Amino acid sequence: MNNYENQRFCQSCGMPMGNSDELYGLEADGSKSGDYCQYCYEKGAFTFDGTIEEMITLCVPPMVEHNPGMTEKQARQMMEQFLPSLKRWQGK
Ligand SMILES: [Zn+2]
Repeated sequence: MNNYENQRFCQSCGMPMGNSDELYGLEADGSKSGDYCQYCYEKGAFTFDGTIEEMITLCVPPMVEHNPGMTEKQARQMMEQFLPSLKRWQGK
């Protein structure tokens, strides 16, 4: 898996961010975050303030929905491997 170099992910929920900045959340001063998506981060603060386990539980249903053939168990396993590598969760 070597996608990290050409693909950017939200550093909180792991959502792929594509090639533009439009999915990024805003800092308190209105500039783009550069790390976090608009669903996780708004006006300089996280919209969701919980544990990594709670984040995984939140992320699994939309992942299953957007990836036909993926089971809930597979989605959870992927998130459990991927999320701890993201900036927000490092050292947690
Ligand atoms: Zn996010």
